[in-house]
Amino acid sequence: IKWTEGRGWHDAQLVPYAPLSLDPANMTLHYAQTIFEGLKAYRQPDGTVATFRPEANARRFQASARRLAMPELPVETFIEACDVLVRQDRAWVPSEGETSLYLRPFMFATEVGLGVRPANEYLFLVIASPAGAYFSGGVKPVSVWLSEEYVRAAPGGTGAAKAGGNYAASLVAQAQAIEHGCDQVVWLDAIERRWIEEMGGMNLYFVYGDGSAGSPRRIVTPELSGSLLPGITRDSLLTIAADLGYEVSEARISVDDWRRGNQDGSLTEVFACGTAAVITPVGSVKSTRADWVVADGEPGEVTMRLRAALLDIQLGLTPDPHKWMHPLGA
Ligand code: PMP
Repeated sequence: IKWTEGRGWHDAQLVPYAPLSLDPANMTLHYAQTIFEGLKAYRQPDGTVATFRPEANARRFQASARRLAMPELPVETFIEACDVLVRQDRAWVPSEGETSLYLRPFMFATEVGLGVRPANEYLFLVIASPAGAYFSGGVKPVSVWLSEEYVRAAPGGTGAAKAGGNYAASLVAQAQAIEHGCDQVVWLDAIERRWIEEMGGMNLYFVYGDGSAGSPRRIVTPELSGSLLPGITRDSLLTIAADLGYEVSEARISVDDWRRGNQDGSLTEVFACGTAAVITPVGSVKSTRADWVVADGEPGEVTMRLRAALLDIQLGLTPDPHKWMHPLGA
């Protein structure tokens, strides 16, 4: 779907997957006005297909567009575009275990010109790709590298938007994580390098207490600081955890809180969540100052319970009390 200044959205098309041709002076290549989303379509037990919370993705896409001075796509148009593609590609929606069809809606400037200002032409597209189970052979905890040198986003920046530039800013730190033998980066706040923000492509959750009489369970996720991405999985888990009777809250969590909670045993589980892996346990942490293993390094009970509860909704194995699934028929 195209957008042109003075004309708005026009010329929606469903076409076979093919390369795009770009002018060398395409403004996106120089000034990075590009935003995207990620969501999944799941095969349901009766053979039909449903997407998970497309409206939430549509709203976040609008928020990203506002931050990047791009036009907002109406929520209904975003959902309709995803629906049309999933219906066309329904044979590609897998049906084994935790598999799905991953959808990637995105928008970028198509105007040709040099000069920094919002473009006056854009293209919105959705592409799709079948996604296998994130974990083959059981859920494995990830190891994380605390990035103290580089930050992904700063207050007033684009961190809360799903903008391409945020990911460009993260690549050097991700390479450092790999060099240190870790799977993923954990980002800290830009000002104090003290507050936990999020992981490369996932939000984080911390579980305190072991559920015994003197040690009730408490689940905490870093509050939306303005520079971390408001994940839709994060948002869904705030609701699911409360539904399951856990005390759950959003708060600031520092690196020292994490280390201390680990040392005194009050912190019992840490996990990351996002569309791609749903929920991933965090097993160990490395930084320039200290390394530690999270609890016993194994996937925790709350982590696995929340993971199953969310996947059961997505795979249609349990009632969907919050009407999160968007059915698309057979
Ligand atoms: N943080 C970042 C930086 C991400 O790229 C993602 C993936 N979209 C997330 C968090 C998790 O968001 P969601 O649950 O909406 O996939």
